[in-house]
Amino acid sequence: MDAINTKLYRNNYRLTGQRKAVLNVMMENKGRHLSAEEVLWEARKRIPNIGIATVYRTLEKLASLDILYKSMFESNKFRYELSEDDKHHHHHVVCLSCGQISEVSGDLLYELESKLDQQGYRIIDHELKFYGYCPLCNKDS
Ligand SMILES: [Zn+2]
Ligand SMILES: [Zn+2]
Ligand SMILES: [Zn+2]
Repeated sequence: MDAINTKLYRNNYRLTGQRKAVLNVMMENKGRHLSAEEVLWEARKRIPNIGIATVYRTLEKLASLDILYKSMFESNKFRYELSEDDKHHHHHVVCLSCGQISEVSGDLLYELESKLDQQGYRIIDHELKFYGYCPLCNKDS
């Protein structure tokens, strides 16, 4: 929480009640990847009149401050999750049947990055998504 507060403070982003509700939803769902609609649904349990525009703006702002990590898994739909604070972000496996999003442990891309480095590129980050069927859905089919 301290790291989050520091980022908020440094960027002069004040947490109003509604913004705080959005951030709390994300913190209580650590490890999950939520769409703006899902965040809205949860936030309304605390603030019934909170609107999608506020939720969306807050999510975007928190993502721009690196407090949240934002990624697109379905066509035109962003999902947000709590950022692991400056560490490299993990990669994802998306199940095409049930929609489950899991995290991949291990990272084989650093070797590739250093190869690109040698070619004169300066790589800042990378992101990888696998699409397929999770063990449960795979068993059913
Ligand atoms: Zn599945
Ligand atoms: Zn994730
Ligand atoms: Zn990686």
